[in-house]
Amino acid sequence: MAGVVLNRHGVEAVRRGHPWIFRSAVISPIGGDARIVSLLSEREERLGCGVLDPASPIALRVWGVGPEAKLDAAVFTERLERAIAIRKELFAGGTTTAFRLLNGEGDRTPGFVIDRYGDVAVLRIDGEAARSVSPLLLRDLESVLRRHAIMTLLERSSQRNTERAAGEEKQKSVQVRFGEAQTTLEVREHGIPFVVDVMHGQKTGAFLDQRENRRRIGELVARRKAAGLGVRVLNLFSYTGGFSQRAALAGGTVTSVDVAMKAHATAQTSFKLAGLDPRGHSFVTADAFAWLGEAKKKGHQWDVVISDPPSFAPNERSKPNAITAYRALHRACAEVLAPGGTLAAASCSSHVSAEDFLGTLDDLSLGRSDLRLVDLFGPPADHPTLPSFPEGRYLKLALLA
Ligand code: SAH
Repeated sequence: MAGVVLNRHGVEAVRRGHPWIFRSAVISPIGGDARIVSLLSEREERLGCGVLDPASPIALRVWGVGPEAKLDAAVFTERLERAIAIRKELFAGGTTTAFRLLNGEGDRTPGFVIDRYGDVAVLRIDGEAARSVSPLLLRDLESVLRRHAIMTLLERSSQRNTERAAGEEKQKSVQVRFGEAQTTLEVREHGIPFVVDVMHGQKTGAFLDQRENRRRIGELVARRKAAGLGVRVLNLFSYTGGFSQRAALAGGTVTSVDVAMKAHATAQTSFKLAGLDPRGHSFVTADAFAWLGEAKKKGHQWDVVISDPPSFAPNERSKPNAITAYRALHRACAEVLAPGGTLAAASCSSHVSAEDFLGTLDDLSLGRSDLRLVDLFGPPADHPTLPSFPEGRYLKLALLA
């Protein structure tokens, strides 16, 4: 295994367990094809091993720490088995059939994500380097997944950063790795059925990372209902209606807003599956920003306002613009939030930290001073992260009441 020499910062990152080493921390000249390499200190001490991507600013993804660390199919399989064991424990009740089986960096398999939808799994490989080592690392993938009752494995091409982009996603390639081609599947979250389109849907079909937050919104609406409080719910960037369905099941009257018309059709199918009549709720195809302006002019108000927009900050450079956009969005949400209501604001921008995000929800941003932060949630347990890797904790949901 060829070696790559790291500077002091790179050495510290490896020791802390950070899975990414940036190009600026690599001292030795790098070039050629993506490959598995040893990581060395300037004193030629072997720190571990990783995958080198000479073409990327993230020059290395670290897979193992220590002089003995190696990377082969057995290492991948062992990590996958551990990841599966954790999910078996988490979802032992069987009421949730859609969850993340393998969370890339967070499960110490950088670049490899697998979501499970019943007996179908969807693989995403992030980046050219991970792709080029995948034939080696994924040698036993099929037999492992089959052993855990997965009958079909699809692979979706990854569209990092643009995956929550406005409207329908563009060109997507889906490949059948084993089993049969699939499109629409019925799955359950906490016993509640909904449909997922693994072929055309965003990400691998659904935003599984918001599962616990969808449950929390359902619980919030149910508590309000029981207390005799208003339950008019506005769900902005509603996609296939996950939050909407929970809110409606809890007795709320829900307005869902998304630019993607097709997503509303899927949402209505899921409403019906759960025994809800979609005709009792509104599904609006519109740009959320423009629509909020109109709603304010008309003096409309809601008791619970949910905002879960696409990432506004695809990179560090776009962070200031993202902060400005969150501020404007949160101000517009606050303007249609009834007194005594709850604002549920989410962000999936990894470049915007939880503290930065809360800065877009302060009194000045919202233009009102009657709200307080009552809860702040991160990613769920099937989306584990590494303590050293804040980038993995991209998801934030703040509840203000
Ligand atoms: N809350 C959803 C996930 C939302 S993903 C869930 O739990 O499943 C973000 C959604 O925002 C996508 O469906 C996308 O179509 C929509 N979107 C992007 N830009 C928008 C805009 N300007 N106005 C309204 N919707 C938009």
